[in-house]
Amino acid sequence: MARDEYDEDAGPVHAEIPTTFRELRACMVCSLVKTYSQFYESGCDNCTVLNMQDNRQRVTDCTTAYFEGMIAMMQPRESWVAKWRRIGRHVPGIYAVSVTGELTENIKKYLEDNNMTYCQD
Ligand SMILES: [Zn+2]
Repeated sequence: MARDEYDEDAGPVHAEIPTTFRELRACMVCSLVKTYSQFYESGCDNCTVLNMQDNRQRVTDCTTAYFEGMIAMMQPRESWVAKWRRIGRHVPGIYAVSVTGELTENIKKYLEDNNMTYCQD
């Protein structure tokens, strides 16, 4: 999608759309898909508590290159796919259908301490 096809003022704020299919990674907490650089530059749009921004180790710990399928979610509140994936409350963006990988115990503990839940399926 070209940038000028999207009216920034009219639509909801959305996560960056991946600019390349190389180095794509999915957040292991919310399934958001972006490139490694995008996670590094702006963190995860849903999981700001993870502070991935400017933290390569955190990006590596919280995202994975092993995921299947991608869903473009532009209106999460109205999408049945969003309800099915339980991501209705997340920002519009590209999401993985299934994510393989496990968060480290440190990150799980950190999420629990911050009252965040993570995918366990
Ligand atoms: Zn996330």
